[in-house]
Amino acid sequence: MRSVPARTGRSLVAGLSTLALSAGALTGPVSAAPAPAAVQQAVAQQAALQQGAGQHEGARLHTNAELARALKHIERASHGKVRVRSIGTSNQGRPVWFATLGTGPKRLMYVTQQHGDEPLGTESALLALRTLGLKNDRASRALRSKVTLGIVVRANPDGHQLQWRYNYDPTADPEYGEPGKGYDMNRYHDPAMSPEDNPVPEAAAIQRRFAAFRPSIMVDYHMQGRYAFPSPDGREITTSVYWPSNPGVPADALKSSKQVGVRVHDAFTKAGAVVSQYPGGTYEGIARNAYGLRGAASVLVELSDLPPERQNFQIRTAYFSMVDLARAAAAGKLEGIAPGRADQIPLRGPALPDDGAASKTAHDHEDAA
Ligand SMILES: [Zn+2]
Repeated sequence: MRSVPARTGRSLVAGLSTLALSAGALTGPVSAAPAPAAVQQAVAQQAALQQGAGQHEGARLHTNAELARALKHIERASHGKVRVRSIGTSNQGRPVWFATLGTGPKRLMYVTQQHGDEPLGTESALLALRTLGLKNDRASRALRSKVTLGIVVRANPDGHQLQWRYNYDPTADPEYGEPGKGYDMNRYHDPAMSPEDNPVPEAAAIQRRFAAFRPSIMVDYHMQGRYAFPSPDGREITTSVYWPSNPGVPADALKSSKQVGVRVHDAFTKAGAVVSQYPGGTYEGIARNAYGLRGAASVLVELSDLPPERQNFQIRTAYFSMVDLARAAAAGKLEGIAPGRADQIPLRGPALPDDGAASKTAHDHEDAA
């Protein structure tokens, strides 16, 4: 995604402190009650800040080196509460980072940026790790005693570096991917394919980590193009969510996936997002289906590729959904959700006309053929 230039240096630091300030307003307890005013206020503040400054720059993204430093910094600052390790190595020799926090019995796993040119969920994950992992107040300690959260932060570091969807593999002649470039790693999670036989090292690392970590909830953060609800609604969709659609997914996993999908929908909505269902396919190799087939509550999140000035909004809504889901799981609030509510989330409408230039047509990310 060329519209999200990576920025470094002083501007990165400035961007992060702005985010940290806004994030601070979002860290209060999340209840099932209507929209926390703080969320709306923080979102509005951020928008005002950006508009007021006349900025139309995108979010400041961490380079791979900066991501490694940021994760190590969080680990150090957490005094043992956040643990960071590499769970695999990309074909260009970069680590695939996995950060965990908490010791509780309810286990959640998030994955960001399987597609290298879909970077925003990674920025959200860093904010979530800070919010959930660094604080030592009673509520934060209680949360960490109830859940264990693991996040694969930027599953595709080579694709990030190259600003493309695939991993890096010049030898690839893949069924899913592009010859001479690499594999589409979100087609290589099929439970029938062992990690040893997986041609995509980053996907194999996620398969192995899932098997060892045994999460009951798995959420995969992606990005999509731009869509609106059909007329007369017409609002632009900022986020789409979906659950497993493969017919082999066990009924109880489908039910819990829909419950998590509803909670994620509600969290995004509270944070000001406009949310639709994602029209995803049934292929077993897609993470959303693959981890549902393994019995987890499995949910896909797609952040729309909004213009640069709204990227921080996208990052923050996803961050809010990450924190909210951990808190909801800790509080036992997922099991009471009516799974049928998921089917009532409105379907995604038509693609908005491409405003030209750099944007590719195939931003239809999870399921682009
Ligand atoms: Zn994607």
